[in-house]
Amino acid sequence: LQQFSYVASHDLKTPLRAIAGFSQFLKADYGGKLDDEADEYIERIITGVKRMQQLIDDLLAFSRVDSRGNPLDVTDLAQVVEDAKSLLQADIEDQAGEVTCDELPMVVGDRGQMTQLFQNLIGNGLKYHGDRPPRVHISAQRDGDVWTIEVRDNGIGIAPEHHERIFEIFKRLHSSNEYSGTGIGLAVCRRIVQRHGGNLWLESEVGQGSAFFVTLKAGEPSADIESPVVAESNEAEDQLIGALG
Ligand code: ADP
Repeated sequence: LQQFSYVASHDLKTPLRAIAGFSQFLKADYGGKLDDEADEYIERIITGVKRMQQLIDDLLAFSRVDSRGNPLDVTDLAQVVEDAKSLLQADIEDQAGEVTCDELPMVVGDRGQMTQLFQNLIGNGLKYHGDRPPRVHISAQRDGDVWTIEVRDNGIGIAPEHHERIFEIFKRLHSSNEYSGTGIGLAVCRRIVQRHGGNLWLESEVGQGSAFFVTLKAGEPSADIESPVVAESNEAEDQLIGALG
């Protein structure tokens, strides 16, 4: 998987950058000067290249959860959610969305990965909305030394038969014309939560919104911080190889 990351970042990114650059030049110099069909072809190349760049970036994020993670530490989830909201500011404004949260606890986590996790979950809550503007609410409940964090949205919802599938890499319930995306976000989320020794699941019905739940260890100053969980098998590699066929 590490080799794959290296190949993806260097060998695939460089030629793709060249295609992206030259298709932009083509558009700037020849757009509107050929015919409508040529303009359409140029647009399609640009869209295709952007999608491929997004896929490579997301695959790299997936492959780096274990290899590039930082040690776990006591982490303020309120701050994490604030950071995730700032990163999603443009989406929140575009969708006239609202992201609210109750008081959030300190947990044991890798702050960068926690931000990635909540950015993905909140981002999905904003993206998969129906006619109503998206509303996402984050709350937390404690049971012993474990917090269950809930990210609830008022969006299109997910039929129960898809609740497990959506965590698999590349699994999407919509075409990219309906909702943009690569189908990698939730696979990254699950791997991050697994690395933290927690669980990630959801409750949802079509048309009823969705609630994603994450369990994380409470982060008292005295918390016993264990090393991150390292996948026993090459589960990520197997998933990736399976998905790539
Ligand atoms: P992406 O959003 O790039 O497609 P994800 O792995 O984040 O990839 O999600 C996988 C699929 O799960 C999405 O394509 C979508 O069909 C469904 N999904 C994820 N989050 C939500 C949500 N909050 N509401 C409705 N559907 C969702």
